Amino acid sequence: MSSPSSLHDLAQRVCDWQRQHGRHHLPWQGTQDPYRVWLSEIMLQQTQVSTVIPYYERFLERFPTIHSLAQATQEEVMPYWAGLGYYARARNLHRCAQVVAREHGGRFPKSAEEIATLPGIGRSTAAAIAAFCYGERSSIMDGNVKRVFTRYFGIHGYPGLRAVEQRLWALAEMAVEQASGSLDMAAYTQGLMDLGAQVCTRSKPLCETCPLASDCEARLRGLQDQLPERRPKRVLPERHCTMLLLHRDGHLLLEKQPQTGIWGGLWSLPRYDTLEEMAADCQARGIVMNDDGRMATIVHTFTHFRLHIAPWLLEAPPNVGETRPMEAWVAFDHLAQTATPAPVRALLDALPVS
Ligand code: SF4
Repeated sequence: MSSPSSLHDLAQRVCDWQRQHGRHHLPWQGTQDPYRVWLSEIMLQQTQVSTVIPYYERFLERFPTIHSLAQATQEEVMPYWAGLGYYARARNLHRCAQVVAREHGGRFPKSAEEIATLPGIGRSTAAAIAAFCYGERSSIMDGNVKRVFTRYFGIHGYPGLRAVEQRLWALAEMAVEQASGSLDMAAYTQGLMDLGAQVCTRSKPLCETCPLASDCEARLRGLQDQLPERRPKRVLPERHCTMLLLHRDGHLLLEKQPQTGIWGGLWSLPRYDTLEEMAADCQARGIVMNDDGRMATIVHTFTHFRLHIAPWLLEAPPNVGETRPMEAWVAFDHLAQTATPAPVRALLDALPVS
């Protein structure tokens, strides 16, 4: 492992590199407004920069301040997130805005420690906000940084394991502690992100252009392909369901999901554990099930399981209404603006009726 003595100039090297070679024109750069920084950090979790940019800009156009977000209903917020996935992030974002507006007078707390007490903000995100907006000397540790640090220090073990993660946090803190007092925390924090995204990439890292190359353990020992170690393999359980795409007069039947659960607050299709269950529901609604309505099965992978969805497209008689409390008939030309989970969106996009 690289010796902790190499820590004394690690932060400065990353900082200098960022100023010369890092990214400087992302829409959330050049601001110290915690609202904007926070929004970008939450959107960037598990999502690539190029995907986030249009969402970020649309979101800010509709909700330019934390107050405008806090005053909106969740129903108004979700369409601006739909498609980004991981919807708990959007629900927490909205809750967090309300807490900041109500309990902090609309201003984010000024330290990473306090920011981390807000809904949906973890230690690394809180540190990023505090570093970018207030210059606080607190370390981040996101997926990119884990990759850079495991390689630079030659750390084995899956970084998602608690013990490995704790070691990485300790090294990240030491890197900041040992840096000079004048370290530009915003440039360093951005530098770590940029290094992970642009140079120390998952495959084929560009070591020859890396500011840490001279004493990087992975590079010196040819371990770039082996570090960070992968998550130990586990077999995801397979689950199955049937979904009903019921239409009549240019409208489709959708069902609002309860706030808690995987698709909380989004609009989905009536869903059944088995085909028999759906057949019974169709019979109760007076709908004739016709084999022509069977569509191709799609598979959606969640973190903890894979869901096989067997969709059925059926036409309802003109007088059929809603039978479940959260159902509503939505006009086809409104479907594009309706917040739906990704697999439901894929089914709607493939609809042959209009
Ligand atoms: Fe990553 Fe290569 Fe830099 Fe090491 S030298 S931190 S492996 S890019």
